[in-house]
Amino acid sequence: MESSRKPHVVCIPLPAQGHINPMLKLAKLLHYTGFHITFVHTEFNYNRLLKSKDSDPLDIIHDDFQFRTVADGLPASNQRGILDLPDLCVAMPVHCKQSFKQLISELNSSPDVPPVSCIVSDGVMSFTLEVAREFRIPEILFFTPSACGMLGYLQYEELRERGYFPLTDESCFSNGYLDTELDWIPAMKGIRLKDLPSFVQSTNPGDIMFNYNLKSLQNALRTSSLILNSFEDLEKEVLDAIRIKFPTLYTIGPLSMLEQQLRGGNLDSLDSSLWKQDMGCIDWLDKKKPGSVVYVNYGSLVILTPGQLREFGWGLANSKHPFLWVIRPNLVNGGTQVISHDFLDEIKDRGLLLDWCPQEKILGHPSIGGFLTHCGWNSTLESICEGVPMVCWPFFGEQPTNCLYICTKWEIGMEIDNNVKRDEVEGLVRELMEGSKGKEMKEKIMEWKDKADRATKPGGTSYNNFKLLVNHLRGESR
Ligand code: UDP
Repeated sequence: MESSRKPHVVCIPLPAQGHINPMLKLAKLLHYTGFHITFVHTEFNYNRLLKSKDSDPLDIIHDDFQFRTVADGLPASNQRGILDLPDLCVAMPVHCKQSFKQLISELNSSPDVPPVSCIVSDGVMSFTLEVAREFRIPEILFFTPSACGMLGYLQYEELRERGYFPLTDESCFSNGYLDTELDWIPAMKGIRLKDLPSFVQSTNPGDIMFNYNLKSLQNALRTSSLILNSFEDLEKEVLDAIRIKFPTLYTIGPLSMLEQQLRGGNLDSLDSSLWKQDMGCIDWLDKKKPGSVVYVNYGSLVILTPGQLREFGWGLANSKHPFLWVIRPNLVNGGTQVISHDFLDEIKDRGLLLDWCPQEKILGHPSIGGFLTHCGWNSTLESICEGVPMVCWPFFGEQPTNCLYICTKWEIGMEIDNNVKRDEVEGLVRELMEGSKGKEMKEKIMEWKDKADRATKPGGTSYNNFKLLVNHLRGESR
């Protein structure tokens, strides 16, 4: 199709790795089906990308796929590379909105690109809806977390009205109050307060994260259509409950699998990793036995205490299984000095420690037998796509909800207590890698992998929904 006549979609993710990755996958898929794409990074991340890549992302222009930047207004304290989510949530709706408006105006008056025909915005960047409305451009929101997580966030208003938020005082964290079962949430009857997205666990009525998510969902409810990176078989009940509020729901996941179906373009190698990936670990894995290595990664936002790092480390070492442990440069609040010479002597070449890795490649490597994860939604789906059972240590956001579904509904993981202790880590890793529960979880996850595979193949629900989404974005079904 001639470039000037292509529909032009502007994709804007929340500027965090777990949101950028699925949005980029979606952008590539849309490009493949004939859209002109502008993918928007914030300045803070653009500067990080400059450091982690060999080329300037703004110089990458692949036939009708370009990157642009907008301001984020993050205070200088964030420039050390530690993203402070509350800072981001305060700054973005002001700075990013203004800058985004300017960008849309520029794109619309540029002779080099077609006028913007649709905006695909992250569900928690829903302030972009106002910009879309001003320019009379249709917009659709892409919620990158799980459907169960999203249904959890959709309860925030009700939780406030029913007096669950804010918590009355600090004693709620220790007196069992968070175990309270909630019986009014559709498709989640009996879920405990502590299983819902974690920002509800605050005594501060002005809690930034609670209120930001509440506002995002309230904004989102003004639209009727949504995109989710999940598939029907996996979250059927929950999806039906979400459909009551969002009748047009495009479940198109797992995007990594859909990408396999539709790949072949010249964007296949394009990624937006904010850290430099250590590729050397593949050689190390090549030398290990099939299914023998535990992969440990806490995603891009988790912060550990030195004590937690020590407990995880010794638990892994004592399990005697080989492990590949990703310790992000800003993972530990207080530094990684607790990784002592004793520890390194103990693990020798049984453990490999690195800063950041190509996670999807690692999970797909035959030597990987289990995944110790924080239950981020991308990590969870990537694990399902590769059939790798999990040990779960959810940290915040919707990770506790994902963990509940992983462990009790899908039966593909086991949870580590929040107050992590080395003996428990050792025991669960052994069970995962050599126990009967580990074997059962492996069988189950292979079944889910198969279902995901069917959903994304021609005729599958995600495959068909993606086609419907393409029609929607082309304006054919609006
Ligand atoms: N990731 C990666 N290398 C790493 C750690 C993470 O490529 O060493 C990717 C991972 O594959 C996933 C994303 O970063 O796509 C993390 O998203 P997730 O939702 O799992 O967690 P979050 O970072 O949002 O907490």
